[in-house]
Amino acid sequence: MSSTFGERLRRARKRRGMSQIDAAEAIGLSNKSLSRYEKDDGTPNPETLMRLSRLYDVSSEYLLGLTSDMGRSSDNAQEDENLIAMTDNRESAERLLSFISSSPTMFHAVENISRTLLNAGFTQLNEWENWKIEKGGSYFVTRNGSSIIAFRVGSGDPQGFNIYSAHSDSPMFKLKPNAEMLTAEHYIRLNTERYGGMIMPSWLDRPLSIAGRVAVSSRDGIKTALVNLSEDTLVIPNVAIHLQKDINDGKSYNPVSDTVPLYGSEKAKGKLMAKVAAAAGVKEKDIVSTELCLYSKSEGAIWGEGGEYVSCPRLDDLQCAYAGAQAIRSDCHPDRISLTAIFDNEEVGSGTKQGARSDFLSSAARRIAAALGKDLSVILPQSFAVSADNAHAVHPNHPELYDRGNAPFMNGGVVIKHSARQSYATDAVSAAIFSKICSSVGVPVQNFANRSDMPGGGTLGNISTAQLSVSTVDVGLAQLAMHSAYETAGTMDTLYLIRAAAELFRTKISRTPDGGFRLETGA
Ligand SMILES: [Zn+2]
Repeated sequence: MSSTFGERLRRARKRRGMSQIDAAEAIGLSNKSLSRYEKDDGTPNPETLMRLSRLYDVSSEYLLGLTSDMGRSSDNAQEDENLIAMTDNRESAERLLSFISSSPTMFHAVENISRTLLNAGFTQLNEWENWKIEKGGSYFVTRNGSSIIAFRVGSGDPQGFNIYSAHSDSPMFKLKPNAEMLTAEHYIRLNTERYGGMIMPSWLDRPLSIAGRVAVSSRDGIKTALVNLSEDTLVIPNVAIHLQKDINDGKSYNPVSDTVPLYGSEKAKGKLMAKVAAAAGVKEKDIVSTELCLYSKSEGAIWGEGGEYVSCPRLDDLQCAYAGAQAIRSDCHPDRISLTAIFDNEEVGSGTKQGARSDFLSSAARRIAAALGKDLSVILPQSFAVSADNAHAVHPNHPELYDRGNAPFMNGGVVIKHSARQSYATDAVSAAIFSKICSSVGVPVQNFANRSDMPGGGTLGNISTAQLSVSTVDVGLAQLAMHSAYETAGTMDTLYLIRAAAELFRTKISRTPDGGFRLETGA
């Protein structure tokens, strides 16, 4: 490798978009020292090197020149080339696994997508500033660091939105404040609570780690920093079968007593926050508050005959979020505005400032329309939305749980979800428009409806439609074991959804005098 330590250090900092002053302050180093290291005048001690590598999200091996691979997981997402033209399902599944493993929390997913968009030439906007939006431009805006809206404005006369939405969060355990608890006068356990409806036993007996964000006191206020401990940190151990002989007859799990993770023996007491601070690249004393999540360290796998299945944590809904983040980079019809919205908090009802129930999307749509001199009340009836959230594939052991005739399979294409009580926003028109878009690029569609005596789950479509009322179809990719800590989907389906979403963005959907819809493709 020909570059010097100082050059690599500088490159890693710039890639993070940080000034020398901010970087030095974040890890408690003087600006002068950091400046010296970047000029190859001396090298940092091992602890400072570790802090720098965590702050910049690169491996210390890279900084030391031992490898040209920057190595830390989120680089995978950053250097991800666009999958729109890809035909290799296995490779697309590997990219998906890489994105998911580098996105242990919604904060990391949004950070990874933001970086990919910046690399693709999108301009970042802030909600607290005025927006200057131009025809032909590509932009994104985040809220709370956990939701993101990316959009492209057609170069012609934009008259409608083509919207794709998904969610960034997954069921998990969140750490409570003052989490360390001494138990049996020997163990340190961490106090947690559940986020979303998870299959609890799937979290037991496997390595877990901790990621999220910290709020840190800075010279002039409060800053946030992402955290990922990356290493195997915790296990929630089962009780041996000898001590609970009826466990296989159906056990109920109590989050106060049965799913509390073990952190260590008493020698681990008081060590957690120091570890979190080091991973965040901040001083422990500056951490004011935290939002930390447990995540499974289980490796993703591509398996089955010819690699037809892909399994990993958080497929719901990062598989659809990934597809939307890929597709928004494709061409936009000159007369449309393409928009991908990825919302946090779907798993807890979407009712937060950054959830689908908030004004995040409607406010962005209003500002985009105003910047282009368009009347939103004329634009919305000519807009179309696809809400993408994974769907239940028929279970091999329990096909009786599914509707006869409307039960999808993995690798069978994009699933259109139907519900008479409108827990899905799909109607005849939106299903037809989406089916036509899919068929024009050879993407198969399947239908899903709940068994008539089962209510099923909710999703984004009808919530989002209540905030921004446009014709919407609820779709998803078929998967097994939804809300398990390890889920399974079809290797072919990610590319199907990317292709469908990219075609959506290329399609002009306008109204005809008789109230119908005209679909014209062109970009
Ligand atoms: Zn979901």
